[in-house]
Amino acid sequence: MAPSAISTPTDELSSFHSNGVSSLNGQLSNMHLNGHAPLSTSPSETLDLLCIGFGPASLAIAIALHDTLPKTSPSPSVLFLEKQPQFAWHAGMQLPGAKMQISFLKDLATPRDPRSKFTFINYLFSQGRLNQFINLSTFLPSRAEYEDYLCWCAGHFEREGKVAYGMDVCGVKVGTTNAEGRATSWEVTARSTSSGELVTRRAKHVVVAVGGRPVIPQIMQGLKHVAHSSQFANTITRIEEAVKDSIRPLRFAVVGSGQSAAEIFNDLWERFPDSNVRLIIKGASLRPSDDSPFVNEIFDPDRVDGIYSQDPTLRASALALDRGTNYGVVRLTLLEHLYEKLYMQRLRSSNPSQWRANILTNRQVLSASQSKDSSVKLRLGEVQQNAAGVQESGEEEELEVDYVFTATGYKRNAHEEILSELTKLLPSDSNSKFGVKRDYSVVFDGTKVDESAGVWLQGCNEGTHGLSDTLLSILAIRGGELVNSIFGNRSGSESEATSIGSSSPP
Ligand code: NAP
Repeated sequence: MAPSAISTPTDELSSFHSNGVSSLNGQLSNMHLNGHAPLSTSPSETLDLLCIGFGPASLAIAIALHDTLPKTSPSPSVLFLEKQPQFAWHAGMQLPGAKMQISFLKDLATPRDPRSKFTFINYLFSQGRLNQFINLSTFLPSRAEYEDYLCWCAGHFEREGKVAYGMDVCGVKVGTTNAEGRATSWEVTARSTSSGELVTRRAKHVVVAVGGRPVIPQIMQGLKHVAHSSQFANTITRIEEAVKDSIRPLRFAVVGSGQSAAEIFNDLWERFPDSNVRLIIKGASLRPSDDSPFVNEIFDPDRVDGIYSQDPTLRASALALDRGTNYGVVRLTLLEHLYEKLYMQRLRSSNPSQWRANILTNRQVLSASQSKDSSVKLRLGEVQQNAAGVQESGEEEELEVDYVFTATGYKRNAHEEILSELTKLLPSDSNSKFGVKRDYSVVFDGTKVDESAGVWLQGCNEGTHGLSDTLLSILAIRGGELVNSIFGNRSGSESEATSIGSSSPP
């Protein structure tokens, strides 16, 4: 059957489009807030804290607030605004069998306070699965179970009415000023993803924790049947539905050489055993992530002080050296699994071009175009790296596929757009860049912003705070640090406040 015979009309897959990232939001908008009133706070109230984004980083802050602020005094007024219609953690990469890559002991509470009720162990206990989990003898739960743990934690704050889902924050500007003209609060504007209505809330302290934005290489942007790895799980379900009556084997290309690319390559091969799947990578081979114990210390929370105080040039070279522990690398067990599967194809044919699945090494996508039947034509160029690390193009070839998944990583600059109104408050030598202190607070011009107000950035500070900044490893401790930084003088007795992140033994 020709590609055009795929039974799906193009518009059925119209949201599987390389510009569209949040196509499911419309369908799910009715699930707004899991039944809670969208915004329980009033626009005239000045909140103590407003967090933009309610993913794991904000959740860790909510938990640290719950665990560390004294229950005797009135709790601060806090609101979390989240664009998604309900709590979800990398929903697009929830693939069958996918495992966590870090120990469950690095959950959102244990490293800060193992006695917190929000530990992964307490989650297992409360779900009646602790003994069975112990019998698994693993530190690496499935991603599905970890997401369920995060939802379980999030549920606590949803029930307290502190979370509003379906709220896409568009911007932050100065809310109020004092007699000297210094900002004393912020006004945050969000658009409801279901009604389109604009709402504003005022807060003294704002945390921006919105995660990374998927990056699709420019040459593939705007093409149909091209999607980013972050959309894989939802788009593949639609593809399965669309092609269920098709007898022609599908052709897939996956671009990238990180964990997402390898997991998608493996998943497509298993999901569509007759399909042709090509993994296109720039390097000569897939490489393993390094999670050996000495290297793993890079991600320890107590490393951040040293990294932050390092000379910027040295820090940048250290970061470049350590990148291979996390980016563009694949867990060894998956590499071994893929190698064995690729090897088994040799039993049927020694000619790689006849294999159902293969890795095209030393290749880059030079251009991409759409066929009339919506398949995608990729022009691939050979990449050779010479001693100086310069890439040179060699031979070219064409690869036509029905669907492309780009597992090409994320950019962590969404805060620049959200905070664009505030660049005028930055110090004159800032080059309009949002610099942060060790405590993640934005460095403002002290003559323009009062000490009583502040903005904190989460997950976009790899350049100053190290590789762990985008990872789960550090969240429990960092949540405590944020609470200390924002509410230090309110978090109970001084000894209680300073004990955040360094609980003494019982
Ligand atoms: P990633 O590690 O940043 O990898 C992106 C890959 O895309 C790199 O190999 C990069 O190569 C390549 N790339 C970027 N632009 C490209 C282009 N124009 N053409 C060809 N290749 C291009 O992204 P990821 O795999 O999504 O992983 C992100 C994070 O999520 C990692 O921390 C990972 O461990 C984590 N993750 C975890 C799980 C799990 O827990 N099971 C699953 C998936 C991901 P260059 O760097 O050479 O450009």
